[in-house]
Amino acid sequence: MDAEHAHTTPRPVPLSLGATVTTRGPAAQLGAIRTTGGPRPTAPSHEQGLAHDADRNREPGGALGTDAARDPRAPQRDPRADRLLGAPQEGGLRDRFGRVATDLRVSVIDKCNLRCTYCMPADGMPWLPQSQLMSTDEIRRIVRVAVQSLGAEELRITGGEPLVRKDLEFIIAGIRADNPDLPISLTTNAVGLDRRAQALKDAGLDRINVSLDTLHPETFAELTRRPHLDKVLAGLQAARAAGLGPIKINAVLLRGINDTEVVPLVDWAVSNGFEMRFIEDMPLDGDRSWSATNVIPARDIRAAIEEAFTLTADPRGRGAAPAERWEVRRPGDPVLAGHVGIISSVTEPFCAACSRTRVTADGRIRSCLFSHEETDLLTPLRDGADDAGLAQIWRDAMWAKPRAHGSDRVGLARADFVQPERTMSAIGG
Ligand code: SF4
Repeated sequence: MDAEHAHTTPRPVPLSLGATVTTRGPAAQLGAIRTTGGPRPTAPSHEQGLAHDADRNREPGGALGTDAARDPRAPQRDPRADRLLGAPQEGGLRDRFGRVATDLRVSVIDKCNLRCTYCMPADGMPWLPQSQLMSTDEIRRIVRVAVQSLGAEELRITGGEPLVRKDLEFIIAGIRADNPDLPISLTTNAVGLDRRAQALKDAGLDRINVSLDTLHPETFAELTRRPHLDKVLAGLQAARAAGLGPIKINAVLLRGINDTEVVPLVDWAVSNGFEMRFIEDMPLDGDRSWSATNVIPARDIRAAIEEAFTLTADPRGRGAAPAERWEVRRPGDPVLAGHVGIISSVTEPFCAACSRTRVTADGRIRSCLFSHEETDLLTPLRDGADDAGLAQIWRDAMWAKPRAHGSDRVGLARADFVQPERTMSAIGG
């Protein structure tokens, strides 16, 4: 058994206080999700570098190059135990590759009121029972540990659809009371936001990202399986009136469905003072029908925008942000019209600078969006662990963070990439 296969074998490992949970199940065992017949996404050079580095880590004598790792009959060391060697006992959320996680994303619910084809099956998913969802106070406690013990610098609240939680205003108010200076943002589909935008702002929410893939009602209904475009637009209007800003619009482009809307979406966004962000379609869908051939690569998105606008790289740079940002100007007009961002997880990944740590709605730490392992934080919290204990569970989990796309070796551009069992809606984006 080589180290990679060892990594993907479901085998829970007890940690000091938290429980490690493998997420591979029947769906994941469908194997590599790449479909045949289409071009593979271009393997980016830095991704190749990551894979090469990982191979070097398998030199004899290294943790991943022992005889035990090569001989399937020999007693196997658990790869997670190897990855936990050297985990820090104090300070922030560092990992084995020198990254520090300061960008906290907390999912507050797995349910959603839309059924986007690239995210969820038409009939929905088996939802988490209420008893497994983090309560208002549990979310507040977990965020407090992340900020005050582990150095988290910003919080994004995700779902599912966070607005489905009736207590969202109370969750945000509690977090704000504990962390007066924490930037708090919300990723939402904005259905129902028209009735709650002001209350969310008053509770302490700073800004929102709204998922909106199309401006055509028919395409919206086809993509989301719900006829709610008017509700989304009403929610956006209310958010702007409430002073939630900047407002970013997230669109996933799908070939043959909404890929002709790049320029209209940018035009509409900059005209309304929104920042448009295009996201490459990722293999986190509930239908397991993702195909590399449907991904509109970032370079094609840039080219499409440049047919109607002038793009200039944002002089503020990117840092650890997932979106590469561009200044947008109308042809012949030197005045800045707005900004656009492109999140190129598939064709131009940015894992080397990743600063994200995620908590699912049932209180499990996911060190990477594509992880096959999770670490239970909620059970020890409910069992009475103190803040220091919870912080150490989190440090251990993040120390084992994979190098890229859920693995030390596998990337989205590789044929042996395996889709995680949890979908985007169950993870939190
Ligand atoms: S795939 Fe994982 S490591 Fe890469 S940017 Fe996303 S969360 Fe970070």
